[in-house]
Formats: sequence, structure tokens, C-alpha cells
Amino acid sequence: MTAAQPLTFHARVGEKVRDRRLQQALQKARPLFVGKRARAVAALAEDQLDFEGLRDAGEEIRNRVLADLDVWLDIFEERARATGAEVLWARDGREICEQVIDVARRHGVAKATKSKSMLSEEADLNAALAAAGIRPVETDLGEYIVQLAGEAPSHIIAPAVHKSIDQVEALFAREHGRPEQPRSSADIPAMTAEARAVLREHFLSAEMGITGANFLIAESGSAALVTNEGNGRMVTTLPKVHVVITGIEKIVPTLEDFATLMRLLPRSATGQTISNYVSLLTGTRREGDGEGPTKTVFILVDNGRAALLGSPWQDMLRCIRCGACMNHCPVYFSLGGHAYGWVYPGPMGSVLTPLLTGLENALELPRASTGCNQCGSVCPVRIPLPKLMHRLREEQVKRGLRPRRERLMIGAWAWLAGRPKLYRWLAARAARYLRWLAGDHATIRVFGLAPAWTEGRDLPVGPGRTFHELYAARKRA
Ligand code: SF4
Repeated sequence: MTAAQPLTFHARVGEKVRDRRLQQALQKARPLFVGKRARAVAALAEDQLDFEGLRDAGEEIRNRVLADLDVWLDIFEERARATGAEVLWARDGREICEQVIDVARRHGVAKATKSKSMLSEEADLNAALAAAGIRPVETDLGEYIVQLAGEAPSHIIAPAVHKSIDQVEALFAREHGRPEQPRSSADIPAMTAEARAVLREHFLSAEMGITGANFLIAESGSAALVTNEGNGRMVTTLPKVHVVITGIEKIVPTLEDFATLMRLLPRSATGQTISNYVSLLTGTRREGDGEGPTKTVFILVDNGRAALLGSPWQDMLRCIRCGACMNHCPVYFSLGGHAYGWVYPGPMGSVLTPLLTGLENALELPRASTGCNQCGSVCPVRIPLPKLMHRLREEQVKRGLRPRRERLMIGAWAWLAGRPKLYRWLAARAARYLRWLAGDHATIRVFGLAPAWTEGRDLPVGPGRTFHELYAARKRA
């Protein structure tokens, strides 16, 4: 498992907030995501369809799978093998890399085209492939951009949402060997065509295609791939080998269940009724097929997921990776995805990253929330994200993982709060002292105390008496 970078979140927050280009890119993107989803949900209501009922159904399907995950995985394995596919199991990121490289070597692969796969990000697969002499080429446009930039995706469905057009132009000019030119949003189709021309060569020459899967369908042994670009189809049909890497929780029992979830996924992710491409990939090329791989390999990955089954965190395994929670999160849209330090950003990352990489490796993430519950209210499978973040905070306290200074301060406060007479006496002295310090002003500048709060804010000062004193005075009057 690729570990989250310790304390990345706090270390990067200031940097991201001050990054003007990043802020502009984020402010542009947010209303698009939010508006499109809202319109898609409203359009359903106009057709007398109940989005909330669909959310209930989505939650029920995902819970049904998780209740008997081992059974559904067995059924999937049996059906997938019956269609000619090979099924492998990986415990962690290291095993994913070993298995992909082994398959590549068995089939003489020098280049692998890739369609978006978050599991390959969890495993840092591109680095492992490159070290093994196999060239990985990302073909989703956003993934292609971040690969050229040497960066990780910053959003699970819009990997390059943090990039401006100028930054992409500079990258394309450098990597495609041409002079840079001024660009505006009107040039996006031309820039996309340029990337497409470069990628076409890779599609035609790669011996292996690597994808994730939005869902694995147990009854047919198929992988479902939901994309908005044709790259997914190129990656899964042109190379002779297709490797699907996906988490064990991605199973759905039947095609009918898949159809229900497909009413939720594109609407929640991009506000579309249906994505441009929905592919159901079953087995290998059959006789008479004009295209398709002669070898299909499923790598079903645990990487910490099985340990969540039956735990207080199981709800998180319902996630269908739509990105709606981050699209509606004020914290995500203030910082962008890289601040979160690992593969999954936003509220789902604030829960999933500590669970998959260890609570001690992502201490700040469960606190990266305003508690507004925007995420919980839009999640298509009703994952109670704020509740899970609260639980993670409790767990941090129980395991003594919070910083010593914070523990001491909270311990001192708890001691004082348990002695109400002393608390009131001290509070009354503090109120008078602050009033005296402020003089004629309504606020004072506090230095040193809780610097993250007080460096940029002045402390409002009350009338020099505590609430209790004021209340008692009012009752007497
Ligand atoms: S937690 Fe919910 S809203 Fe967030 S990505 Fe997962 S399914 Fe979508």
C-alpha cells in the first residue's frame, strides 16, 4: 500500500490557499459540477421519478453486496473464469504491481495504455511499470495531462481540474515538441484533438490495456466501465491483453442492480443522464469478433477493504466513486485534491485514507470538514460521511493519537469544566481582563494563543461580564 504522506494536509493548506491559479481553476469548476447535478436531479423529478427513492435503492444494493461479499466474489470469479478470463487476487499495492508486471512479461508487453484506475494510483503502478521497463501511457485526457506534469490526479472524476488552460498549453507545447501559443477556452477542442492524435499512436502500438472497473457484475462475470471519452474502449479492445484492476467491494449481484446504480452514478458525478460510453466487458475475444483482447485478467484487490467489513466503517465500502461529495465540499474547493496527500480527496478521502493507510498517517483528514453535511446529503448511496469523520476523530482520541499539546489543553479544560464554581470565577476574571485589554475597541489582537485561528482574526470582546452573570442580572431585573 502506498502510504499517505504524514501531515501532508496541514503542511499544504496554506500553500494551496495562496495558489492563485489553483483557486481560479477551482472556483470555475465548482458551480459547473454543482449546477449540473442539481439540474439532473430536478429533471428526474419532472419525469415523476424519485431521486431519493433511487438513493434508497442504491444504498440497499450496496448493503446487500457487503453483507455477503465473499459469496458474490466467488460467483463473480466462477462466471468470469467461465468466459475465459483469468482471476487473480491482490492483498496490497505491491501484489498488484507484481501481478501486472508478471502478466506483462508473460505476454511480451513493452507498452501499456491505461484508462482511469484509482487502484493503480493506490499501488503507484505507473512507477512500478516504468521501473520494470514497461511504458505506461494514461489515455483519459485529464490523466494524460497529470501524467505529463508528473503529478497525481486531484479529483477522482476530473483528474486535472486544478490545471488552467495556460498550464496545459505549456505542457502540451513542451511534451509535443512545438512552440507555445496563447490559448483560451475556445481552443479546448483543438487541444483535445492534439492529445487525441498523440494518444492514437499509443492505442495502436500498446500490447496491454489496463483499466479499473466501475462495477463488477457477479451474474455475468463482467466488468462495467463508465467513461465520457472513447479511450476506455480503445484500451479494452485494441491491445491483445486487458487487465482490470479493481477493489473487491465493486461487485454488484445482477445486471438489474447495475442498471439501478447507473441511474445514480452519472447524475451524481457529472449531472448526465447517462455517460457517453457504458461498456460491459465479458471474457476474451470470441470467434468471429473483429476486436477484443485474447487475454483478460481481473485483479481483485483488498488493500485494507476486507478489514472494514463488519466494522463501524463498513458504510464507506458502499462508495461508487462518483465524486459528488467533493464537488459539494467547501473544504475541497478551497484546497483542491493534492492537499489531501493521497489518492482520494474530499470528504470520501477524509474517511477512506485514514482507514486504508492507517489513522496515524492521516491525522488531520477527519478534521478537514466544516460539518455542513453537504457531502452526506448528496451521496447517492447515503454514506454518512460527517458521522464517519466524527467516529474517526473519536478513535484518534481513544488511541492517544492527537498531539500532546492538544491533549493537555483538552484535559485541562475538562478538569476545569468539572468544577463549575471555579470555572465561573475564572471565566468572570477573564471576561473583565479582556474588556480592560480591549479598551474602547470591540476586538483585540491575540498573539500566540491558537495561532491558526488568531493570526488572521481579531478576537471579539464582550461587555466584560460572562453569560451567567448577564443572565443572573436579567433575572433579577
Ligand atoms: S462517498 Fe458518496 S458521494 Fe462521495 S464519491 Fe463515494 S459515492 Fe460518491
